[in-house]
Amino acid sequence: MLTRTCGTCRIDAVEESRGPFRTPADMFPTSTPETVARHKHWMAPDYMDAATEMLLFSFRSYVIRTERLTILVDACIGNDKDRPGRPHWHRQSWPWMANLNAAGVTAEDIDIVMCTHLHIDHVGWNTQLVDGRWVPTFPNARYVFSETEYRHWESMLGATQVGDNVFNDSVLPVVEAGRADLVRDDHEIDHGIVLEPTPGHTPGHVALNLTRGGDTALFTGDLFHHPLQVYEPDLSSAVCTDADLSRKSRYDFLNKYADSGAIIYPAHFTGAAIGEIRSDGDGWRFDFTE
Ligand SMILES: [Zn+2]
Repeated sequence: MLTRTCGTCRIDAVEESRGPFRTPADMFPTSTPETVARHKHWMAPDYMDAATEMLLFSFRSYVIRTERLTILVDACIGNDKDRPGRPHWHRQSWPWMANLNAAGVTAEDIDIVMCTHLHIDHVGWNTQLVDGRWVPTFPNARYVFSETEYRHWESMLGATQVGDNVFNDSVLPVVEAGRADLVRDDHEIDHGIVLEPTPGHTPGHVALNLTRGGDTALFTGDLFHHPLQVYEPDLSSAVCTDADLSRKSRYDFLNKYADSGAIIYPAHFTGAAIGEIRSDGDGWRFDFTE
């Protein structure tokens, strides 16, 4: 279990699953065998399966406990969700809630749910199935969604079956229950807890910046899916809505936060999972925190 502090705040990772996910070519269409060869020495075995060359992914949330708020960042894939096109994610029964409880947090404790974006693997636990209906999982929480992001997916209804299912079972029930706050992409949740626009992967993708007592923690969602993208920031994923804008957001972020001492908490990195961005020659590297 990963537990850290940021000033007076406590941060816990709550993992849902991990394992081989996709090959670099499937995940990052502009990657080449040379790209993989250049980085294999550090990617295997913690970040890439050496035999199959499948990139390893973790699917995780983070819980932040400040002086007065308990905040959930991202909500993974969820249980019982109808995902017929995605057998590994279809009608699952992950022990995610038990993992949350093991961190000393109950569903009732969550004050704020913040989704970096509204993709299938970031909204699942927003809702749970009760008597055949999808209802908000966290009875006392406000849910913070970027309005840009929400309007995008609302406008996409009818375009894809998977997208419709995700919006209808994991986002809309929260809005219909009156529990969602649709906010600006630079919204301040509380003092020193601010959204930062990082668009491209999705139109309203946001990171969360937590600053306390000189420490900074950055929850970066899918700005980086894999540490390979810190070394090769040009690589946008196959599921980015705007690959060029995603790339620009990565470069802006790397330039802004390299060598700053900020700790990066990505949604999908395996191994030690979190770390710092450091300048390295003409580019950057990711120094994992032990
Ligand atoms: Zn994701």
